Amino acid sequence: MAGKSSGNIWIDTFDRLQKKDLQEKYGRKWILQFNYHLENSLTEEQRQKKWKISQTTKPASFTCLNCSHFWNSGRVTLIFHYCLRKNKTGTVLLRPFSQMCRECDNNNFINPTFNVKSVKAILETLILKIRKNCYQEKTDSDSQDKMHHKIVRTKPHESDLCEACMNGICNKDQDEL
Ligand SMILES: [Zn+2]
Ligand SMILES: [Zn+2]
Repeated sequence: MAGKSSGNIWIDTFDRLQKKDLQEKYGRKWILQFNYHLENSLTEEQRQKKWKISQTTKPASFTCLNCSHFWNSGRVTLIFHYCLRKNKTGTVLLRPFSQMCRECDNNNFINPTFNVKSVKAILETLILKIRKNCYQEKTDSDSQDKMHHKIVRTKPHESDLCEACMNGICNKDQDEL
């Protein structure tokens, strides 16, 4: 990379991956942004504007900034909204769902940390979906999901500390087109 790093692993990895598979292939740059208000369904207006959703559940880790407590979770929800609008940059919005620290009672939501390999695999799968659903490419996105069968040993899921559980959407992988 030519030194133009955002400092965020999701944004940088997506920028790198989209170049070859989207930008150079279809002539339109795609960007990834965070949006912590994304819903897990589309409004009629969004659907008309051709927004699509991909929701998935992946393992990640958390570190409490208050007490330094560290934990792994096998169930972290990610929601992506993506859209290719006419004559505009392709847009991906990402909402990672947080969890609360069980050692603190400050009710602070902590954002998940994903390792580099995991971010790359998740975004590769997403880019396949973009190719398939925005450019009508014939791809088999499910068979490319390398993280799918990975077993991560974690403690039982603590629903009362999980933001996605509080929203009633935890562990529900889906695609809405
Ligand atoms: Zn804590
Ligand atoms: Zn949950």
